[in-house]
Amino acid sequence: MFGMFRREERLGTGEVLKRLMQILSQQETSKFCAHCDKQVLALRPGTSRARQLLLTVVTLGLWSIVWIVDAIRRPGWRCCECDHQLK
Ligand SMILES: [Zn+2]
Repeated sequence: MFGMFRREERLGTGEVLKRLMQILSQQETSKFCAHCDKQVLALRPGTSRARQLLLTVVTLGLWSIVWIVDAIRRPGWRCCECDHQLK
């Protein structure tokens, strides 16, 4: 346990947190936006299965309801420039 803590310390707490936030917050990819008529950076809110599963376990299954609702209303990919929905 101490070994793990030390390894995290060497990586830098800030760096670990930054990386963690990146994983939890949103995903990025390159997509074609018809509105901007070019390849743009598309963003999608965090929809990581690992995170959803973890939250489901932590909330004793309650999160699975939020997960299902979120899956139905999920906005999907959005253009980072004009906020237009991308396919
Ligand atoms: Zn666009």
